[in-house]
Amino acid sequence: MNKKNVLYIKDLNKIYSKNSSKSVKAINNLNLEVKEGEIFGLLGPNGAGKSTFINILSGTTIKTSGEVNVWGFNLDINPRQVRASIGIVPQEVNIDPFFTPRNILELQAGMYGIKKKDRITDSILKLVSLEKQAKSYTRALSGGMKRRLLVAKALVHKPPIIILDEPTAGVDVELRTKLWESVKLLNKQGVTIILTTHYLNEAEQMCDRIGILNKGNLVALDTTKNLLKRIQTKIVRFSVNNKVNINNNSLKSVNIISNEINELQISYEKNAINISEIIKFINDQNIKLLDISTDDGDLEDVFIRLTKN
Ligand code: ADP
Ligand code: MG
Repeated sequence: MNKKNVLYIKDLNKIYSKNSSKSVKAINNLNLEVKEGEIFGLLGPNGAGKSTFINILSGTTIKTSGEVNVWGFNLDINPRQVRASIGIVPQEVNIDPFFTPRNILELQAGMYGIKKKDRITDSILKLVSLEKQAKSYTRALSGGMKRRLLVAKALVHKPPIIILDEPTAGVDVELRTKLWESVKLLNKQGVTIILTTHYLNEAEQMCDRIGILNKGNLVALDTTKNLLKRIQTKIVRFSVNNKVNINNNSLKSVNIISNEINELQISYEKNAINISEIIKFINDQNIKLLDISTDDGDLEDVFIRLTKN
């Protein structure tokens, strides 16, 4: 174990109790580790518990039980050090429109008690490509620029960990790309990134590892590569010259989507059966294959599968 454990979560639980009759278990026995230098993505549908988790880390929500360690500091023992170790990029843009990006970063630095000579305002502005806008009113910035300013704000105290809660929700594609460039650049400089997102293809491209939360339960935790490999549903459409005699029990993992005289559509698990076995099954019935088209599964498949019910 040469890489430092940036995040170490043990048996974490959060129950919101509005009144005695109705309580919500937002986090259910979560165990998780994130290593130094990773880009870790937490995915999950609405209400999965992603924000609850992040709010526990940032100190705005109190956990019900369990252990939270950030950068080697235990949240119950050293909450200040935990807070100093992370920079949080919130989901909502809440910046005073009459301040300039430079003012905002300077104010934030003041709040953290960083001396003038130790401030890194200019290099942060450069990192998020806002150096040209340093002296503009933030109300004049585009949505994407405002987001990048939020990232900049989270960097003022040079935290080794940056946490972003759905940073690209509602941001258009071009600006999203710019934001992710900033995040990747930060990561290259050694900052560990933890993010939540709804955009699965984004997680696929950005994250080294992914955890999937569903109703407070961690239903998957693996490298992005393994996650894609592990449950890969493929959809195949065969054009045939006759109806294939097949049912859901004919071949391992094969599910019939539709079976017509001239077309058979199935789904199958790539790791359970090879397509050549399916073709052989059809050929053995003296049926001619006229055409084959396949549809590759992506993280969407894994996600839907794991969060169904
Ligand atoms: P996500 O960010 O993944 O959408 P949240 O962490 O916001 O999920 O919510 C998880 C669950 O906890 C949901 O069922 C939500 O209704 C509930 N919840 C969140 N915040 C509160 C709160 N302050 N009081 C009561 N229930 C809450
Ligand atoms: Mg949320």
